[in-house]
This record gives sequence, C-alpha cells and structure tokens, in this order.
Amino acid sequence: MKIQHIHGLPPLYTNTFLITTDAGHGILIDAAAAPEAYLDALKAENATLTHILLTHGHYDHVGAVAALKQATGCTVYMDPVDAAGTQLLPLKSGQVDKNWPANNELNIDGLTFKIYHTPGHTQGSVVLNCGNLLFSGDTLFAGSCGRTDMPGGSMRQMQESLSLLANLPLGDDTQVLPGHESFSTLGQERRTNPYMDGGWAY
Ligand SMILES: [Zn+2]
Repeated sequence: MKIQHIHGLPPLYTNTFLITTDAGHGILIDAAAAPEAYLDALKAENATLTHILLTHGHYDHVGAVAALKQATGCTVYMDPVDAAGTQLLPLKSGQVDKNWPANNELNIDGLTFKIYHTPGHTQGSVVLNCGNLLFSGDTLFAGSCGRTDMPGGSMRQMQESLSLLANLPLGDDTQVLPGHESFSTLGQERRTNPYMDGGWAY
C-alpha cells in the first residue's frame, strides 16, 4: 500500500488521505480537496477509487464526495446519523452507501480498518485504525481535540471518546493523522494532550 496526504480546499485545508492498495484500488479517508486533485493522484498511481471512508459528515470533510461518486462509482461509508442534509452536515442519506459494519471492521484488499465510534464532535464521528495508522478525524488533534459546541456536539461524549482512544490496544508509536493541522503519535498524545485522560473539567 501507499498513502498520500492531500490537503482540502482553503481556508480549512482539511487533512485527507488517499491509500492505494497493491490491487490498484483507492481508499480515500475524507474528501475535502477538489475532485480533480484525487482523480489526478489516482491516475498517477494507476488506481481506481473504490471506497470513501468519512470520519464524520461536516462540510469541510465531504465536499468532493458527490463528484467522486459520480466519476468512479465508489462506495461511501459514514455513520448515517451525520447525513442530515444541512449546511453543516450537507450529505443526504441517499449519498451515503453504507453504514459501518456491525463488527466495526472493514477488510479491503488485505487491509483491515477497525472502526471506533467516537461521538462528541458530531454524533456520527469515527476514528479509523489501519495497521500503525490512526485516522482521528476531528476527534483527536495533536495536543487538542475537536470542538463540541456545534449542533450534535457533546463535551461529555468527547471525554468518553478520548478515554477510549487513550486506552486503545495500540502502541505509543501509532501514527495519529487528524483531520486538521499537524500529525502526532499516540504516545505523544497519551503523555502530553491535556484532553486525553478524561480528567478535564466541564
Ligand atoms: Zn468537523
């Protein structure tokens, strides 16, 4: 497999990630750049987009979904609770093909994605683990966490979700790839992120 970091459109420059598998398939984690940016990257790898895995439904993570679906026929996964058809959560339920599997595991071309439900930033937020990589969406940021003051947000649920992440059976060297700003490791966040231990005050 190969992974590429592709920035979303300004002004938020959301982090998105394109994984290409040995079988020539593309798996996109969030879709916030211009559709052409992804289609060009796929073409350069001689790969076909088969999956879009959305960490949550906010507008700054899903802007290219409709165009990519149209262009490639890929399958879009997201928690349907985030498909509200609003300005903040623009996808409608018909634009999301599949909910996360009941066993919270997706196997694609020999890669295993484990899905952790982490409500708090939105009700449908998830964090995805594949091998040594943790795609933490807007739940866990380097040194911080996603905001909880928008509709569907919950500080109490965010605390529980961050405690879940702190206690995942994953090593400190796990790469944390958040939806915004810089990357980190799980060990760094366990040691220094003040929001990670569930002890922060309301
Ligand atoms: Zn968000």
